[in-house]
Amino acid sequence: MNERTTLLAGLLLLTCTYVFAAQQSLRPGGIAIIDIGGTDTGAPTATFNGKPVLVMRRDNGWVAVVGIPLDAEIGSLLIHSGGEEIPVQISDHSYREQRLTVEPGYVTLNEEQLERVGQERKIIDAALTDFREIRMDGISLAAPVDGPQSSSFGLRRFFNDQPRSPHKGMDIAASNGTPIVAPREGLVAATGNFFFNGNTILLDHGQGLVTLYCHLSEISVEVGQSVAGGDVIGAVGATGRVTGPHLHFGTYLNGTAVDPAILLRP
Ligand SMILES: [Zn+2]
Repeated sequence: MNERTTLLAGLLLLTCTYVFAAQQSLRPGGIAIIDIGGTDTGAPTATFNGKPVLVMRRDNGWVAVVGIPLDAEIGSLLIHSGGEEIPVQISDHSYREQRLTVEPGYVTLNEEQLERVGQERKIIDAALTDFREIRMDGISLAAPVDGPQSSSFGLRRFFNDQPRSPHKGMDIAASNGTPIVAPREGLVAATGNFFFNGNTILLDHGQGLVTLYCHLSEISVEVGQSVAGGDVIGAVGATGRVTGPHLHFGTYLNGTAVDPAILLRP
């Protein structure tokens, strides 16, 4: 390689790194990226609502990457770092309504089903709130499946006209059996066949960045297994509360669902 191609390659690499760096989005369901200073020798720590948040290097300093809850109040959030309180202004964002019709058995549950859903919630919450202290060089994700990515995050949902919790992920249209790949390296935190989510995988990418895959036809990984970005983890299906085959893709920071569109590489 001559000097000129080396320079070009370097420039290209710089450009790509810049393009793939997720940008902040200061709204409910968005991400705040806050400068918290620090030194070359050690990463500072930061918390939000008493929980640790992801900290990584950006430019010459450190940033806290904070998931903003969908039910966050408009106004100011407080991030704590190094004994300081850092206020972050959140803007309003109105999410649309979505009305879906599913089998009545998925809307009104009997006691046994409620008990089952409660147990499953514990497994999912444990995986979502795990904080694995590893060094993070970024938070961007590759698309887990090929397919049209809907802007369905945050929709205020009604199932058979009954209000239910907002849609905490992105639905990606793909046919039954389409392979799903890990969007970056991680550990398999949980798997299961859950009432609403059907066959499900949770991947822990470190420092509270967790991804969720629901309604699969097949799970190809086991709890505790490490995966590299691009490894096949399962296949698209239509298990659980669905109206047809698709991947429900959830992305979480500090235990809170954030819009996957912010993290996905273009
Ligand atoms: Zn979904």
